[in-house]
Amino acid sequence: MTTRILAGRVALMTGASSGIGEATARALAQAGAKVAIAARRKDRLDALARELKQSGADVLAIAADLVREEENRRIVAETEAHFGRLDILVNNAGVMHLAPIDAADSADWRRMLELNVLALMVSSQAALPGMRQRGDGHIVNISSTAGRISNANASGYAATKFGVVAFSEALRKEVYKDNIRVSVIEPGAVATELREHIPHAATRQALDAWAGSMRQLQGVDIANAVLYCVSQPAHVNVNEILIRPTDQER
Ligand code: NDP
Repeated sequence: MTTRILAGRVALMTGASSGIGEATARALAQAGAKVAIAARRKDRLDALARELKQSGADVLAIAADLVREEENRRIVAETEAHFGRLDILVNNAGVMHLAPIDAADSADWRRMLELNVLALMVSSQAALPGMRQRGDGHIVNISSTAGRISNANASGYAATKFGVVAFSEALRKEVYKDNIRVSVIEPGAVATELREHIPHAATRQALDAWAGSMRQLQGVDIANAVLYCVSQPAHVNVNEILIRPTDQER
């Protein structure tokens, strides 16, 4: 039986319509948090909200395209308006448009920068006034092993994920005195829809083969890492978790 260790807490989970975000929203709700879930695919959010409500959770589904700055501010504002506060923001929405630099479409680079980094920066900024006012809050940012190690054909994606790590550390230094914690999770290969959107066919095939050669992580494995971070006592800030499949070398 899951302990309701997050009872009374309010969380906002971005990218909750699939993969890591869906699994983490489920874990936060099972731990007793009230959860706002955001992404573009409203049908998927509604299905998840129905499922979680059936098990007694308090859930708010918010359709939003987080490439748009005002949408990041809106999801924070709607969460605070609906639940009265926002304690835990999990910035997870992201895309991975891999390609060699020579072949890359700069529109894909822009889209990754705008979603993976800028959106996360804006939603973090939007969450701060309420957290500072209450002297309590936790921001969890999903980076990647690609935020630690930069590989060929992943230049743009790695730039965004290194960016997440850099932003998060500066954020932590600016907010810790207000009892606001910042954690970064850096997953290796997780079995989700992420690779389906790789535009460069040879890169997608190579990555699919690489991921297929190992026992990949599942969304719930990352959800467990997030849950670990946000359920520590107030004096503990888990700054960073690098989590790879056992079978993943690099
Ligand atoms: P998924 O593709 O399953 O999930 C991505 C989520 O982001 C979806 O909910 C999607 O929802 C949302 N999203 C995409 N574009 C937008 C947008 N414009 N506005 C709002 N939401 C958007 O992949 P994962 O679960 O794997 O990815 C989650 C995070 O984990 C990403 O940041 C990814 O970089 C990171 N990660 C994943 C790894 C992996 O191996 N899978 C490894 C390391 C890190 P919708 O399409 O409905 O908008």
